[in-house]
Amino acid sequence: MSAINNVTVIGAGTMGNGIAHVFAQNGYTTQLVDLNADALSRAVATITRNLDRLVSKERLTEAQKNETLSRLTTSTEMRAACADADLVVEAATENEALKMKIFAQIDEAAPAHAILATNTSSISITRIAAATSRPAQVIGMHFMNPVPLMKLVEIIRGYSTSEATCEAVLACSKSLGKVPVEANDYPGFVANRVLLPMINEAIITLHEGVAKVDAIDQIMKLGMAHPMGPLQLADFIGLDVCLSILRVLHEGLGKDKYAPCPLLVNMVAAGKLGRKSGEGFYVYTKGSKDAIVSPSFG
Ligand code: NAD
Repeated sequence: MSAINNVTVIGAGTMGNGIAHVFAQNGYTTQLVDLNADALSRAVATITRNLDRLVSKERLTEAQKNETLSRLTTSTEMRAACADADLVVEAATENEALKMKIFAQIDEAAPAHAILATNTSSISITRIAAATSRPAQVIGMHFMNPVPLMKLVEIIRGYSTSEATCEAVLACSKSLGKVPVEANDYPGFVANRVLLPMINEAIITLHEGVAKVDAIDQIMKLGMAHPMGPLQLADFIGLDVCLSILRVLHEGLGKDKYAPCPLLVNMVAAGKLGRKSGEGFYVYTKGSKDAIVSPSFG
């Protein structure tokens, strides 16, 4: 398997900007792609801000920051951006039909040796791989949010993923300073199979009036030593992403216990997606780090 030097990241949202950041910072020539040019500008602004923070903490020099930014380019042209890729990491919206379409396109555009990875939280790697002519070179590379800070990468082999692909992606994850851990290809893998039912239960608890938003989060933070309460974490992940993952678990595992809480369904329908839309269980005012509970749950 040839060396990985050029990486293309598809999707410049919450995850894509963090993934592009860590690849560029660790020496990879990185192209970040989104349909939406504004998402690309926001991503570069976020990456620059996060690099500035590392410089101010003396964990990176100004020169290293500039080198990182010089290795990063952006594009709205997915096919062209994949033409020289050794590795493509797809981090677009959590929607199976969309991912199948993207994989069929990147399979046509990327060189024959390229590995095609998906950052999906829950969708079958085997089904995504089946949209390509190279299922042995398709793999799940599930980064955690926020990517520059979180050590784990959950690595998921599809039914046909080759040993060589898996080894290359394990080595690549380590080169980013991450700890890759393998899981099998079942809905939600491990991370979200365990996390999302907890988040959903916290939303059900709120919906049934057992406790208020900040009480639920405080109980889980102080009682279970979680760094973030489950409702705050749901906002951080994105309520649309949480809903999509729960639907995959519900459909794929066929048990009522994974059915998304109707409150979550309503909030997503109302465009309350959490931090990225400015409001979810909390309200996020620009420039303020401390979120306040949304008036809907006051
Ligand atoms: P997001 O909604 O923040 O961003 C998705 C981006 O994909 C948007 O900028 C959108 O414009 C872009 N996009 C959509 N269709 C596209 C296309 N055809 N080509 C190029 N770009 C396209 O979503 P996110 O939270 O960054 O999630 C991305 C992926 O990462 C999903 O599969 C999600 O399940 C997974 N994930 C999310 C988290 C999290 O905490 N949010 C954690 C781990 C994994």
